[in-house]
Amino acid sequence: MTGAKSSPESAGSSSRFSIPRPLSHSSLTLYADCPQKYKFKYIDKIPERPRHFFSFGSSVHQALEFFYGVKAPPPPSLEEVLAHYREHWISAGYKDEAQEAEYFEEGRALLSRFYRKHVADFHVPFFVEYQFDIVVEGVPVTGKIDRIDRLGDGCLSILDYKTGKALAADRAQADAQLTMYQLACETLLGAEVGRLSFYHVPSLKEQVSQRHAQAQVSGLRGRIVSTAEAITQGMFEPKPDESKCRWCDYKPLCPVFKHQYHPQQQDLLLAQAPAPSAAKLDADLAGLIDEYGALADRIETLGEELELLRGRILERLDRQGYVRAFGQRYEAIREGRSRWEFSDKKKVLELLRASGLYESVLAPSAPKVEQLMADASLDADLRARLEELGSKTEAVDLRVRRL
Ligand code: SF4
Repeated sequence: MTGAKSSPESAGSSSRFSIPRPLSHSSLTLYADCPQKYKFKYIDKIPERPRHFFSFGSSVHQALEFFYGVKAPPPPSLEEVLAHYREHWISAGYKDEAQEAEYFEEGRALLSRFYRKHVADFHVPFFVEYQFDIVVEGVPVTGKIDRIDRLGDGCLSILDYKTGKALAADRAQADAQLTMYQLACETLLGAEVGRLSFYHVPSLKEQVSQRHAQAQVSGLRGRIVSTAEAITQGMFEPKPDESKCRWCDYKPLCPVFKHQYHPQQQDLLLAQAPAPSAAKLDADLAGLIDEYGALADRIETLGEELELLRGRILERLDRQGYVRAFGQRYEAIREGRSRWEFSDKKKVLELLRASGLYESVLAPSAPKVEQLMADASLDADLRARLEELGSKTEAVDLRVRRL
């Protein structure tokens, strides 16, 4: 059975994170390797050159998916598997025809060996190419699991095919890719994972691990959140490393190396980035609005905290009879300000008028005059004369409310 599953939390959940796409094992790894490269690939969307080893891996994976993808035994014949392999062969990224032919033959040979070894123990897996989407602490996470089987005790067995170099010893015990798959399966399938493995197809060797410990799962969750936070905050520092930079397609654009390249090489790369679409512009605007709202919220909270602190400081100054006190970096000065309140304003005005001082305290207040001018019953001639005396400026305000 092939599968595509989402955790309920993923549907329509709002998130404090702003990431260009759900995180996957490979994008998490890419960000850890070099945040700047992650940005070039996933935010600027500048495509990398196709690589023959990815094409080869995908071609073999598709043939294995075909082999295990039947709904019921018997499995397809070897000829059918090889025909599927030939028809779905991916040619991109090979240096030349000779290299492509060599790899094609190698793929045929290893698929044949795999078939002969496993046709006898063939069974229909629980899932083949299981596509999952989960949400981890508010971060959308996606991935695809090559094969999931049911063990006799009802637990799940997760298997990932590898077609590259031989695997380092004990990789299955520690690899975060398998931890992520365990987390996804246990979130979505309601069964415990009992076995995790990498199957190295060229050597027909399987490296098996027990389920990963809770500490590994917690570590992965933390890494997912911290990576999403760093991406949201726009942290894309280059992380140069000779072994990785040597193969990096983005070197001509990279802040560390771009001085070594001709601007034309940079333009060529940049020209491959898609033009921002209306949807992208809308997404940018949505991001700005959220950022503005979050900042306004912070200002409000900070304002409240400021008032509280102000009250506490004044109270302490009063209690100790100080008008001035010092912190390490700031000083506080108590400035007294008295204010009169007059309950009978009419009498105050009469008194001032009788003393000939009425005009000296009367100043036009702009809000009051504006209010008067907005009154439809105001005499038209008076309005016109007021308009002549004033000048009108238009101001635009922005109001953002929490949804
Ligand atoms: S050249 Fe190196 S530092 Fe620059 S983006 Fe590529 S991997 Fe990162």
